[in-house]
Formats: sequence, structure tokens, C-alpha cells
Amino acid sequence: DGIMLRNLLKVRKSGWKQRAFSSNSPVPKQARAVVIGGGIIGNSVAYHLAKMGMKDVVLLEQQQVTAGTTWHAAGLMVTFGSMNETSTDMRKYTRKLYSELEAETGQATGFKPVGFIELAADADRLEEYRRISAINRKHGVDVHEISPQEVQKLFPLCRVDDIQAGFYVKEDGRVNPVDVTMALAKGARMQGVKILENVGVADITEKVFNGHRRVTGVVTTAGEVIEAEYVINCAGMWARQLGEKNRVVIPNQAAEHYYIVTDAMPNVDPNWPVVEDPSSYTYIRPEGSGLMVGLFEP
Ligand SMILES: Cc1cc2nc3c(=O)[nH]c(=O)nc-3n(C[C@H](O)[C@H](O)[C@H](O)COP(=O)(O)OP(=O)(O)OC[C@H]3O[C@@H](n4cnc5c(N)ncnc54)[C@H](O)[C@@H]3O)c2cc1C
Repeated sequence: DGIMLRNLLKVRKSGWKQRAFSSNSPVPKQARAVVIGGGIIGNSVAYHLAKMGMKDVVLLEQQQVTAGTTWHAAGLMVTFGSMNETSTDMRKYTRKLYSELEAETGQATGFKPVGFIELAADADRLEEYRRISAINRKHGVDVHEISPQEVQKLFPLCRVDDIQAGFYVKEDGRVNPVDVTMALAKGARMQGVKILENVGVADITEKVFNGHRRVTGVVTTAGEVIEAEYVINCAGMWARQLGEKNRVVIPNQAAEHYYIVTDAMPNVDPNWPVVEDPSSYTYIRPEGSGLMVGLFEP
């Protein structure tokens, strides 16, 4: 629908405008590490390598930074729901990072801690989320079970006569994925990372050292060679095919997922929380003066 697409483009255009800072310079002949892919993962890897003190990091993006899946993301940022400590810690770290990146880089991330509610629509999910909540609380996520009436108070458009409870994390919420990525890219560049757009990687080169295969660098689609000690494949849904060229199995499987953005709706408050209802494979959050409704395949 044209109207929905226009709304979406309105939301995303801030990110497109900011592309200009990621300028192109000549492809270097050597780097300590080459990061392949300029989505949120590639930029985060480059940012963190530089933060850990690695010099001479180059990121190569075949199109433009954020041009892949990252551009489409709904921006939900949630610490609730993981069943293990490591990924819960990563979620908490991410939330903290996103709340601080703007101060560090001067680039807004759109981080809005509007809260997140996971709905339990039946007894099984209620039991499951109570268990997950116990694990999450143990690892520092401040999640609370709330009644259907409390859910409706927080998100008045929510029909609650068929739900058992909500699981609410006040500090979670949403970001603008393009802006977060641009902030990570800016933070990376501020620490010396070279980000090159319109430079695709055709091949990862390797040699055998002491009986073990090791990467030696990359060859770009234009035929330039970059020697590197480390190559990090952050090519998103293209990562598997790229890995296969070197007989490296990357078990990534692209999954179809989509959302709609409505026109402006009366009474929608942009500060309402994100609501997720796994029983209907749906998440809903305010977007501008309307709603974003994300849908998964059953
Ligand atoms: C509709 C939708 C909604 C979503 N909502 C959310 C959400 O709310 N919250 C959430 O956490 N996640 C969400 N996701 C998932 C999220 O978008 C992805 O997990 C994330 O963006 C993946 O980032 P990435 O950097 O791995 O991949 P990408 O953003 O796809 O980046 C990979 C990059 O690699 C580049 N590339 C590929 N091959 C090469 C090559 N050979 N040489 C150079 N560059 C190359 C591509 O051009 C691309 O820019 C959503 C996804 C979709 C589709």
C-alpha cells in the first residue's frame, strides 16, 4: 500500500540523510581486520574491535551502510525472554550501550525506553513466562507480571478479555535501527575504523599454516586485494553463501517477516509500550501517530 510505504519512508529518511558521513577512500592493501557487511552487526563488531584497542580495522559494505536487513528492522529492543545468562547479559549490555551512544558519538539512536509487555494468552504461556521471568530476574532483568487490566492501562487499544497476564519490563523499548547503526559506524570511525561503501567482497583468501587453514585477506568484486590477519563475516543473510566459498558452514537461514505501518490513528500515544502477543504471532507499537503491526508466520 502506497500510504503505508510513504509512512515508513518518512520514518526512515533521517537515517538515509546521515549516510554522507561514511565517505569512501581508496581500498587499503593491508588491514589487521576486515569486517564484511555494513549492517548493525558489522558496525557493532567494528566499533567494539576498535573499542578493545584494535588498530587498522576496515569495514567493507557492498552497497551502503544499513542497506541490508537492518534498514527494515522494527527496532524492538527487549531484555526479556532469553533462557540463558550470556544472551541476557548481551541484551542488558546492548540496552545500556544504546542509551549511551548518542552522548558518545553525537548521533541519535532513537532509543526510547517506553517499556515492553509480553502477553500470555493461555495457561501454558503463563507458566512458561513465569519460569522465564524467574530466570531473567536472577540475571538482572526487572520483569514484573501484570494483570490484564494493567496491560490495558498501559496500552489502551489492547483487548484483554482473552489474556491471562502480561510480563512487563519498564526499561525496555525501541530504537531506530538505522540511527543505531549510524551511531555505531560513527563511533567506530571516531576510533579510526575505515568504512568503505560500494565495496563488495568476492572472495576470502586463505593459506595452510602448520596444517591449519588460515585467512589471509579478501579480494573485492573490483579485484583489489586486502591482506588481513582477521576477516569477520557479518554479511547477514548473505553470510552463508560467502562462508560456503571457503567451506565454512554458517547456519544462517533467512526467514520472511514483515510489518505494516498504519496511517495516523486518533488516541495513539507514541509513548505506549511495545506489546508482543506470541499466541497471534504479532507485535504492536506506536509508530509516528499510528501503529506498527509486525507479523510472523505461524
Ligand atoms: C521486518 C523486520 C523487522 C525486524 N525487527 C527487528 C526488531 O524489532 N528487533 C531486532 O532486534 N531485530 C529485528 N529484525 C532482525 C534484524 O533486522 C536483523 O537481525 C539485523 O538487521 C541483521 O543485521 P546484520 O548486520 O546481520 O545484517 P544486514 O543488515 O543484512 O547487513 C549485512 C550487510 O552485508 C552486506 N553484504 C553482504 N554480502 C556482502 C559482501 N560479499 N561484501 C560486502 N558486503 C556484503 C549487505 O549489503 C548488508 O548491508 C527485523 C527484521 C525484519 C526483516
